Order: sequence, then C-alpha cells, then structure tokens
Amino acid sequence: MIRHAVPYVAASDNCCCAIQTCGGLIPDSDCPDHGAKKEPVMAWHHADSPTCLEGQASRRERRTR
Ligand SMILES: [Zn+2]
Ligand SMILES: [Zn+2]
Repeated sequence: MIRHAVPYVAASDNCCCAIQTCGGLIPDSDCPDHGAKKEPVMAWHHADSPTCLEGQASRRERRTR
C-alpha cells in the first residue's frame, strides 16, 4: 500500500521527493526537507483514499481558476 505524506511546511527547491497530484509526496530519504534526517511532521494518507482524491480535486480546481 502506497502512502502519501502532506508536509505542513511548503517544500523548498531542494526537495527531491516524488510529488503527487494530490499535493502530497512520497518522501525520499535523501531529501533535505523531508528525508530521514529531518523526520518532519507530515499528514499521511493512503494513495487513492478519500483524503487523497479530495486533494487531487482541490488542486485541479485551483489550476483551472
Ligand atoms: Zn522532499
Ligand atoms: Zn495522496
């Protein structure tokens, strides 16, 4: 089961995680923002869960506006 992490702090340009369409990401352990060293507080959800789909929908809305 794939889980997505939604960081409470915006990712910087140094972020090398796999960004997901829901606004979450799959953390890369080498990422200076979200890697194993930092262990930042993030909201986790399962891929394609209601939370994930909601995130995808709200991002789609924002893009068309
Ligand atoms: Zn990152
Ligand atoms: Zn997601």
